[in-house]
Amino acid sequence: MGWFQKVFTFLNPVDKLGRRKYSFFFPLAFNVFAAILIELYVNFLINDPEAVGLYAIVIFILSIIYFSFRDGVRGGFISVGVTIIYYSYIIYSRNYTEDRLLASIQTVAILSVMYTLLAGIIGWLKQTIDYLIEKEADEKQRLKTVFHQLPVGVIVVDKNMEVIQVNRIVRNTFDIKTFPKSMFKVNNLKSNPPLLQLCTLLNSTLQSGRSSMNKEVVVKRPLGKKITLSVSTSPVKNITGKIMAVSAIIEDITQQKELNKRKDDFVNMASHELKTPITSLKLYIELLTGMIKKHDDKRELKIITNIHNQSDKLLTLVNDLLDVSRLNTGKLLFKHENFRIDNLIQETIDELQETSSQKIVFSARKPITVYADRFRIYQVLTNLITNAIKYSAGKGNIIVKASRADSKAIVSVQDYGIGIQKSQQKKIFERLYQAGNDNHKVFPGFGMGLYISKAIVSRHKGRIWVISEENKGSTFYFTLPTSHN
Ligand code: ADP
Repeated sequence: MGWFQKVFTFLNPVDKLGRRKYSFFFPLAFNVFAAILIELYVNFLINDPEAVGLYAIVIFILSIIYFSFRDGVRGGFISVGVTIIYYSYIIYSRNYTEDRLLASIQTVAILSVMYTLLAGIIGWLKQTIDYLIEKEADEKQRLKTVFHQLPVGVIVVDKNMEVIQVNRIVRNTFDIKTFPKSMFKVNNLKSNPPLLQLCTLLNSTLQSGRSSMNKEVVVKRPLGKKITLSVSTSPVKNITGKIMAVSAIIEDITQQKELNKRKDDFVNMASHELKTPITSLKLYIELLTGMIKKHDDKRELKIITNIHNQSDKLLTLVNDLLDVSRLNTGKLLFKHENFRIDNLIQETIDELQETSSQKIVFSARKPITVYADRFRIYQVLTNLITNAIKYSAGKGNIIVKASRADSKAIVSVQDYGIGIQKSQQKKIFERLYQAGNDNHKVFPGFGMGLYISKAIVSRHKGRIWVISEENKGSTFYFTLPTSHN
């Protein structure tokens, strides 16, 4: 910086806005120097000490304005102080007559009050502006620190898709050292498919104004390792609701995915391994039951029936486990066919009625043909009806209905049992979710049934939902496509 620029920066009051450092010596020295100069000028150069008035008023009023704007209240008051002392010196040194002396003192008194007010107001305004600017700068700094410390990547683009902000994690993740404003221009995207995907997500949020959650993007690292990112975008709106920018949060979920995969693999393997011995166990039990039946021992028969029922439960559980892991790995296969859902419902009811003393009613039965996987729908029905029995503990009948609407069949299973709290009605369809008190497990189960049922119904492009009131009962509904002719 040249010396001229240095002097200019030193004198320029605008340059000091937002910096709360107010000088003491500069306003003092400047005003004293100005007074001395004026005195020298009028006394020795123009030899007219009376001419001082005009210079003194103009120069000092400008000086007060300037210093209160440059150095706040302090700068203004120093200027006012020097001015008043100088004015007093003029009155004292000019040997005025009594009348003129009185008038001059009055004028100086009035000017002093005005100058003080002026310096106070301008100085106060200047200090308030400084404070606000500083506060905003602090806030920005705080946000910037947090922004760069976040354990997730954040990228913000404006409405022209120009990059406004990007943190270290994004740069590392995409292996791009500097993120120019024009990063999302076609040329840059061509060589980087994951970046193109990110751009598409940001752009669609920009166009639609709607957030997107946890979209997966796979990035190939230079050493060949792939990482999976979860990207969520959301629009940044101003106070009038207009979209100004779009932000994306980028999270590396590679480890989480690997862990989940390993867990699924383990469950899959364990349930496979368990299934074989249980199936042969069941065969032996059936053999034994036949033998016991021959010599008609009631006690033995009861014991073996219990063992048979328990092994059935065990097999259902293992099959559920297997289904959950197949669902997660996308390996649950479906075999669609046309069949009469009313017949299937009746068969399922007949089978379950044998194991329950609670009455299961199939109300208003009429023929309805659906196009679905028969076994999987049997699974859904079994799950809903056994749940209805389990969660109503003998209270009231279980009512099953089936009807047709448009090209859909609607099946419902109603009970008069414990019901489900409103807040939990959506969650019960999640994996391993069980409603109720976390600490006290009253009903046995793993929370897999409804998760599997929902997945099965969804794969048939159907919908499953519940309407329920606590202590009054629940009705589960699901829809299926009717037959293809
Ligand atoms: P599980 O019955 O093995 O716990 P499900 O996935 O079949 O698992 O059900 C999840 C949860 O939904 C259950 O734990 C229970 O809290 C609730 N639930 C399901 N059906 C009913 C019902 N008919 N009445 C009341 N609660 C139910």
